[in-house]
Amino acid sequence: MAAKTKRKKPKKSPSRAKASAARPARKAKSAKPQRAGGTDPVRVAQILQKLDEAYPNATCELKHDNAFQLLISTILSAQCTDVRVNQVAETLYKKYPDAKAFAYATPSELEQDIRPTGFFRNKTKSVMGASKAILEKFGGEVPRTMEEILTLPGVARKTGNVVLGTAYGIASGVVVDTHVLRLSNRLDLSRNEDPKKVEQDLMEIIPREKWIQFSHQLIWHGRRVCHARKPKCIECNMESLCYAKDKTV
Ligand code: SF4
Repeated sequence: MAAKTKRKKPKKSPSRAKASAARPARKAKSAKPQRAGGTDPVRVAQILQKLDEAYPNATCELKHDNAFQLLISTILSAQCTDVRVNQVAETLYKKYPDAKAFAYATPSELEQDIRPTGFFRNKTKSVMGASKAILEKFGGEVPRTMEEILTLPGVARKTGNVVLGTAYGIASGVVVDTHVLRLSNRLDLSRNEDPKKVEQDLMEIIPREKWIQFSHQLIWHGRRVCHARKPKCIECNMESLCYAKDKTV
């Protein structure tokens, strides 16, 4: 048997070695977005405590008797105030008491019934589509998982979180509406602008058992004190913890 001969590794030529040394270092593949500086667990716990002190009874301000009504009211609340939706809902649920009534409504009539909430044509499509899907796919019951609820027309994560959290007490995420978005940035709990990313950030730093209440409390604070324009910082019990650029004190 012939003895194996060991192959020698070819030496780098001096010119190639020089070129690779001059090449700039490769960028890291996926640079993680910078984490908000205010997410220190002690600070987050202090914010949660302040919210508990200020809003111990915060809850969803859309009036409803059941999960289905809350779902419809949440769809109607897009680009509309809860007060206006509640006014419309008062007569709406008498005329359309369940999913069947909405599913087989006359579209032009329903459009007029929900017109004061704005975007009434699209909302009619969503309300009727969601009602039909609930009847046909879920036996007339609003589903209890995020995966299923997201299959309903006109329903995205925000609506899913509102319904699952408030009607069923299921913490599937954090509601990120315009108030939660603004306050999460002001309180430096997230440096993202996209609601989905903000929700992920909040889910990482807020204990799960607080997700539902935290959403309600932040929405209440946004409506009552931390307004988009001219926040009432002098009335805010989180003022000592807040270093927002647009603080008014
Ligand atoms: S101090 Fe002002 S900006 Fe900061 S959370 Fe309170 S109201 Fe909002």
